Amino acid sequence: MSQEENLNKTRAIINLSACRHNLSIAQQAAPDSKCIAIIKANAYGHGMIEIAKALQNTDAFGVARIQEAIALRDAGIKQPILLLEGFTSEKELKFVQQYNIKSVIHNDYQIQLLEQLQGDNVSIVIKVDSGMHRLGFNPNEVIGVIEKVKQCKVVQSPIKLMTHFANADDKQDNKTLDQIDVFYKSAEAYLEKNITTEISIANSAGILGWPQSHATWNRPGIMLYGVSPFLQSTALDHNLKPVMTLESQLISIKQVPKGDSIGYGSTYICDKEMTVGIVAIGYGDGYPRHAKTGTPVLVNGQRCALLGRVSMDMICIDLTGIKNVDVCDVVTLWGDGLPIEEVAESAETIAYELLCGVTQRVEIKYLDE
Ligand SMILES: *Cc1c(COP(=O)(O)O)cnc(C)c1O
Repeated sequence: MSQEENLNKTRAIINLSACRHNLSIAQQAAPDSKCIAIIKANAYGHGMIEIAKALQNTDAFGVARIQEAIALRDAGIKQPILLLEGFTSEKELKFVQQYNIKSVIHNDYQIQLLEQLQGDNVSIVIKVDSGMHRLGFNPNEVIGVIEKVKQCKVVQSPIKLMTHFANADDKQDNKTLDQIDVFYKSAEAYLEKNITTEISIANSAGILGWPQSHATWNRPGIMLYGVSPFLQSTALDHNLKPVMTLESQLISIKQVPKGDSIGYGSTYICDKEMTVGIVAIGYGDGYPRHAKTGTPVLVNGQRCALLGRVSMDMICIDLTGIKNVDVCDVVTLWGDGLPIEEVAESAETIAYELLCGVTQRVEIKYLDE
């Protein structure tokens, strides 16, 4: 492994102390709530186990799938773990029970499985579909579901409730307030009698932008990785620090005459003689193929523009007029000094997808100050 590691051109440097800082921002923004740090999808591409170990200060973790939850327990993680998608079979439910995982439930089949289960208690969170229409019980079913679940011998009381936002990234969109309203109304009759019911509503955007959504448990995800959860803003606007910095190396520099084209499909034509740098990173590393000409990259702290199409292993960048640059210099694709939000916009995607898309070929290096 060590030899290969030294030969790697593409590196994702993961700053664990930045991740802890971002968790503290989530905690400060909602001091009366507890945090379920969301580390699904390999902690948004940052390494689930390493991130879990770095976030000892969180109250709980959240993952999407049962194998993620089991991997955390197997790695010795002791905090509560919430399974956001819930279980889909008796076998999965048995793992939920055996590994002491809290599970979301959102459909009748899961209630049937709970009714048949014997043995140790399991902790359940009922998910309400307050308007996103992905997972969750309809608002008018919620009281009935609570009653049914209460009858299951294995279900730990009291019952907990949650919902999830569709549009909280847009602070102008009132759907978020409607969703909060629909959620609380759906369980009103229960909540009036059970005022200490544990509730979870807010994702990162809810935590930073919608204080009405703060509840017993908040669920920060993207903000932990130092990415703004809002449209048209970057991490710095919210005092978040980027956790992943993606880097590679310049492997060639050449002069290209005016009128000649660059890369596959000849989509970029030089409007003057240009100095072009070739960087060892491409969609085979997870750099987005849809990044457009003009997408920023950093070379020795100087911003340069992507030119033409992204290849599997390489990109071409404009070094015309850039001083003090040489083959082998480090190029930053996103992270420290270059907001991933900008790169995502240039590639018509979101930072979540860029982070999750970093491939096996990229060496992951953990930094902890
Ligand atoms: C992924 C996810 C979150 C975290 O969302 P962010 O936008 O990354 O903060 C919270 N809750 C649920 C149900 C999720 O699936």
